[in-house]
Amino acid sequence: MKQFNFLLLVLLGLNLTAQNVTLDYYLPDNLNYDPNIPKPADVIGHEVGEWHVTHDKLVFYMQQLAAASDRITLEDRGKTFEGRPILLLTITSPKNHQNIESIREQHLELSNGNGNTNTSDMPVVVYQGFSIHGNEPSGSNAALAYAYYLAAAQGSEFEAMLDDMVVLLDPSFNPDGLQRFAYWANTNKSINLNPDSNDREYSEVWPGGRTNHYWFDMNRDWLPVQLPESRARIATFHKWLPNILTDHHEMGTNSTFFFQPGEPSRVNPLTPHINQDLTREIGTYHAKALDKIGSLYYSEENYDDYYYGKGSTFPDVNGSIGILFEQGSSRGHIQESENGILTFPFTIRNQFTTALSTIEAAKNMRTKLLDYQQKFYADMKTEVGRNRTKAIVFGDSKDASKTYHLAEILNRHQIKFHELANDVTISGKQYKKGASYVVPMDQKNPKLIQAMFEKRTTFKDSLFYDVSAWTFPLAFNVDYANLSSLSNAGPEVTDFQAPKGGVNQKSNYAYLFEWHEYYTPKALNKITSKGLRAKVAKSPFTLEGKTYDYGTIMVPVQNQKLDADQLYNFLNKIAQESQIQLTAVSTGLTRGIDLGSNDFDPIRKQKVAILVGDGIRSYDAGEVWHLFDTRYDMKITKLDTRDFDDVDLDRYTDLILPSGWSSNLLNKEGADKIKAWVKDGGTVIGYRTAVDWFKKNEFIKVDAKKDTLVAKNIPFDQKNDFTGAQVTGGAIFETKIDRSHPINYGYKNDLLALFRNTNIYLKPEKNSYDNPIQYTSDPLLSGYISEENAELIKNSVPFKVKRLGKGRVILFTDNTNFRAFWYGTNKLLMNAIFFGGIM
Ligand SMILES: [Zn+2]
Repeated sequence: MKQFNFLLLVLLGLNLTAQNVTLDYYLPDNLNYDPNIPKPADVIGHEVGEWHVTHDKLVFYMQQLAAASDRITLEDRGKTFEGRPILLLTITSPKNHQNIESIREQHLELSNGNGNTNTSDMPVVVYQGFSIHGNEPSGSNAALAYAYYLAAAQGSEFEAMLDDMVVLLDPSFNPDGLQRFAYWANTNKSINLNPDSNDREYSEVWPGGRTNHYWFDMNRDWLPVQLPESRARIATFHKWLPNILTDHHEMGTNSTFFFQPGEPSRVNPLTPHINQDLTREIGTYHAKALDKIGSLYYSEENYDDYYYGKGSTFPDVNGSIGILFEQGSSRGHIQESENGILTFPFTIRNQFTTALSTIEAAKNMRTKLLDYQQKFYADMKTEVGRNRTKAIVFGDSKDASKTYHLAEILNRHQIKFHELANDVTISGKQYKKGASYVVPMDQKNPKLIQAMFEKRTTFKDSLFYDVSAWTFPLAFNVDYANLSSLSNAGPEVTDFQAPKGGVNQKSNYAYLFEWHEYYTPKALNKITSKGLRAKVAKSPFTLEGKTYDYGTIMVPVQNQKLDADQLYNFLNKIAQESQIQLTAVSTGLTRGIDLGSNDFDPIRKQKVAILVGDGIRSYDAGEVWHLFDTRYDMKITKLDTRDFDDVDLDRYTDLILPSGWSSNLLNKEGADKIKAWVKDGGTVIGYRTAVDWFKKNEFIKVDAKKDTLVAKNIPFDQKNDFTGAQVTGGAIFETKIDRSHPINYGYKNDLLALFRNTNIYLKPEKNSYDNPIQYTSDPLLSGYISEENAELIKNSVPFKVKRLGKGRVILFTDNTNFRAFWYGTNKLLMNAIFFGGIM
């Protein structure tokens, strides 16, 4: 009856106060609940849906619940960037809890490839996760009611279900984002709930709560696993190999509810067909449950199942079924929508209801799901035997750290790899022992290896919800090759350690290090920050039997702030911290440029700022912030567009303009201010939309190639498909680089893969030396691009540097820092920072 009254109030448009919400609104009414289990309101002081739960309160409730229930164990799996615990509740019958380890081990036997485990008595494993986008809060708020339900519901049927099932409940995939959003929604809530969409409550301040601390979309990180929250999730995933994984999201306010399967033509070809059949069958349970409460929904539209970096797709390449849920968002507490008034409790109830229909499906489809998983691994075992490729070797003979970080991803996915037995040359590329690894294909999940290493350029569909390529060895710019035997494999790597750095000995003359290693910018920044002098070599040379490439850094011993002993100790320390090798030399006489040559240019201490705030894409800005702060230990000042008028730019040597949502980043005064600062010697580095901004504000002249495509014989209802097919959503392209140009210092090959997600195609300059990075004549390496754009990109350039007064304007049309896993092009930005002055 209460439920009816609640809805009636909404329908009549009466002032709705939060007191109307009760827990009964969410719970099925045909069950008894254990009175000894605390209800959410008993612990957190408000009803589910009355306020947006903060992460702190969510944690507090889960702790109390776990303490009160013998069905629940609570695990703290680590900390977010802001120090919040990353919780997991394991929920099953008390009987199962007593031998949970053996249940888990038995479950993992399904993946041993033998296909002979009897599944008839085996519990099914369901991993349910909520609100990976923090400002899609109905999921995590539903998790309160759902955890209560699992702990408190009584009855023989319910208890039998817990015997047959292990639920892994991840109440908040994104604690920092959830907290940030709860603050916003709660601080703007009125006692008289106001559904007017213009209210401040429904329009968050930049950067919003969707992302994590460094503004990453964590629902793109399931495969690259670069963020602490992802590491916890992926560890749990591989620890259990769940049969179903659900990912509860929200979408636009005018939408209803979506559950997978998504668009049938946009399923990754590595995903078996049966996966989609099972997803569809599970969908019938969601449909039935939503019918029952009268909620509208849809499936097999909009969303796809292509990129394995998403939570609903990643499980599909692991013998699990990934399921995406999307609920139309109330954002705050109540909002007008095309479907009438949308209340926060209503959105929570749909999430709760589909959490229940998920376990209902899992219960009824238990052996089917277990058998599917077992067959998935057995089939792969058969396939791998037929395949000619027996292993993949990868490495960078000059960059052990970058190689290590790629191997680290394999390690996080429990993919086995071996040391390289000896230095070896394959197809003209040298692989060095210690800076290369061999990945055998005959192991648990060769499909996952394939998903990480393969290049794909043909597609069934031309629309993508996200990127169409993520080929890891290209993203890391490592050399790699398929091997037809394991003859190059040394012992399996079991004690996986980061490369060690150091100085070989003390020098009274100078120290040298090449620029190729990933963490050299970190070392150089520490050297210049200490007030030490360092120079960069603009040509290669040979000294004491060793050849040094373009971009080698030289630190002289004489005339420094530190004496020879102090300098040695300091450099030794930073070499260790940066995982690089420094070489002490005793003479300046080389073959090539001598150490005292004018071809060594001094390096200034850099002070870098980045523009953030309204108008800037927070993802792109966050990637740069994260790169500086967590990888290179470099301070970067975040200048907000709001306060830009008051900032004194003379404090900075470099200003980064990340891509914006449009080319209206700053007003005319802001543009003039930057221009004057550049003319005075500053370096401005712009990405993507900055091309138009530089042009509009007359920083530099740039010529772009224009798309002249017009629709012919395309009917109205295919308009979106037509325009969508022209989007370059994220693909990988080959460039030829001029290694003598400072922007390319530290690259050992003449070809470099770049990630791009724009359609800005710049014409090359007349003089070849002004085009240090240029797309090749057939540049597509992996991913989707339309035929028209494939023509435009040929021989175009993604990079420009031009002088303006005493300073430099530097332009990248592509994203060199994409999602924290494009290690291969991070150095381009660092080169722009450290060597911009000599370009
Ligand atoms: Zn989402």
